Amino acid sequence: MPVCFWASLTRRTIFTPRAVSVFSTSLQSQAPITRKFSTMAPRSTKRKASAAPAAKANGSKKAKTTDYDDELREPHHAADIAEKHGIVLRDYYPPEMSNTRARAYAEEALHRPMENLVIAQRETSEAMKKAAKGEAVAHWFKTDLRCADNTSLALAAQKAKELNVPLLCFYLVSPQDFKAHLRSPVRVDFILRTLKILKDDLAKLDIPLYIETVEERAKIPARVLELLDSWGCNHLCANLEYEVDELRRETKLLRLLAGKNKSFEAVHDTCVVPPGQLRSGTGNQYAVYTPWYRSWMAHIHSNLDLLELHDVPPKNPASVRKAFMKIFDCEIPAAPKGKELSAEEKKRFHSLWPCGEHEAKARLDKFCEERVGEYSEQRNIPSHNGTSSLSIHLASGTISARTCVRTARDRNKTKKLDGGLDGIKVWISEVAWRDFYRHVLVRWPHVCMNKPYKPDYADIEWSYDTDHFKAWCEGKTGFPIVDAAMRQLNHTGYMHNRCRMIVASFLSKDLLIDWRMGEKYFMEHLADGDFSSNNGGWGFSASVGVDPQPYFRIFNPLRQSERFDPQGEYIREWVPELKDFDNKEIHDPYNRGAGDKAKKNGYPKAIVEHSECRTRALAAYKAAVA
Ligand SMILES: Cc1cc2nc3c(=O)[nH]c(=O)nc-3n(C[C@H](O)[C@H](O)[C@H](O)COP(=O)(O)OP(=O)(O)OC[C@H]3O[C@@H](n4cnc5c(N)ncnc54)[C@H](O)[C@@H]3O)c2cc1C
Repeated sequence: MPVCFWASLTRRTIFTPRAVSVFSTSLQSQAPITRKFSTMAPRSTKRKASAAPAAKANGSKKAKTTDYDDELREPHHAADIAEKHGIVLRDYYPPEMSNTRARAYAEEALHRPMENLVIAQRETSEAMKKAAKGEAVAHWFKTDLRCADNTSLALAAQKAKELNVPLLCFYLVSPQDFKAHLRSPVRVDFILRTLKILKDDLAKLDIPLYIETVEERAKIPARVLELLDSWGCNHLCANLEYEVDELRRETKLLRLLAGKNKSFEAVHDTCVVPPGQLRSGTGNQYAVYTPWYRSWMAHIHSNLDLLELHDVPPKNPASVRKAFMKIFDCEIPAAPKGKELSAEEKKRFHSLWPCGEHEAKARLDKFCEERVGEYSEQRNIPSHNGTSSLSIHLASGTISARTCVRTARDRNKTKKLDGGLDGIKVWISEVAWRDFYRHVLVRWPHVCMNKPYKPDYADIEWSYDTDHFKAWCEGKTGFPIVDAAMRQLNHTGYMHNRCRMIVASFLSKDLLIDWRMGEKYFMEHLADGDFSSNNGGWGFSASVGVDPQPYFRIFNPLRQSERFDPQGEYIREWVPELKDFDNKEIHDPYNRGAGDKAKKNGYPKAIVEHSECRTRALAAYKAAVA
């Protein structure tokens, strides 16, 4: 039975029971971790694209080690296509990996990035204990841009108090990470605006927030060390981010700091239940949401401290202002090249997406006060304001998922997450999806390396029809619900959840276009773009993720439109060409006697025929995975 070895971590009570460091002494009592292929070359090694490895009848385990090792190093046979269409960004990453390599991650033949971090923590723990008091403790802000209920910030504040030294904070702007992670300009702008609020809030506590741009992301660990040295700081705390690049960076940083006898506490924060804590009866991570969710709730019910919220840090001594004057004085940089907004976009997005943690909390309270009661009935209607619109805040960390669940639960009639008011119950179950996809990411990290959850799905013969893709991006497919949704995304940086599913299904099933192009387009345009939620949503809709169900989950855009936008209100809002059409015509103008009017208004004919596409999609999925 594969052992998910970080899952057995006991929650280390360094601070509060929830302040879980990924390292736990319980690891040391485990059997040594053996890996079949521990002599792998680092993945960053540049490899020449070559032919597909010969298929192995019975998966990887029967292969001779050397053959298998070769297969692990080979790129996928269609790696050049992924590169050509901008799916794999070769400025930052190696070619798309082979299915064998993805399978090796799935079958635990390769260490996952989280495991490597845990190993690094174990190996450096003694050196870290030698960290001297120093002149300050630092917290590194990343996707946790808030003072309230911030695990690492609270831990750093406590440490500073214990050592009787001040707390310093910093944020590093990394233009290369913005590019490599496809951060949308609207999201970058939101981050930079939020930093200003955060800086002002911290300054009121005499805590400086130092902000600096680091042009080359590979230099971040070294720069962190330099900064800590320049402040005389020997203790660093940060919340974990679970994406592959971030876990690898933190592993490197950990070893670097340990080598200088500095301590680095990387703690769980972004999920309500840390990844690795929930396991099915077979000892594995759940890959299906419903049983996972039952286990998630049960885990919280028996660990209620998971819903305890951390306080804002206390004030630093006022003398810090003089001692660290230069840090207090730093400027918030402008958006890096390629991520700027025009003046018109700034105006639009600033009014659509007010930023900062106070806004996030006010939004949550208002939603719980006014709308959560009707959430279960309203949440699927894109023309209604039935959801919380908190995703941009959760993605940037201006509010914690814990605060969301705790606030909603406290308004319920019961402390049980599966009881009481329907709206609250369902809303909490939606927030849980965010945790679920993060758990999936940590356990199956190849999903963060351009591979589908089940490697065989990488062999589906996708289309790369650029006209079709352009029509989808621009909202000109001739399918009104799809076009309305894409135009909402392009104009606001947001799309309703129901519509995200409709357009993702349309791209991957009706157009049979490589889902990763849609996943990328979403990340480049969403204000709430978040790797694991986006990847999970695309995995669900394109049937390439956990629990894929390709033969049942093919949305009919017309049925979806009639069911969830029966009066055509959403379509009218975003597709002005169809504004005056009646409730029947609006869903399918050319087939409902309104073709001439649609043509005159400049609305295009449908670019494909759904039933034909359905048949084609089923055949393509079957051919790859049957
Ligand atoms: C193809 C596709 C792509 C998506 N991409 C993203 C993305 O990049 N970032 C993102 O935050 N969400 C994404 N989602 C999930 C979901 O659409 C949004 O979280 C939701 O629409 C945000 O609106 P809200 O804040 O009003 O949500 P609410 O309905 O009020 O839900 C509250 C919070 O729960 C979380 N949540 C709700 N539904 C989901 C879900 N299905 N998966 C994960 N988390 C969920 C979000 O953090 C959300 O803010 C995607 C879904 C699909 C189908």
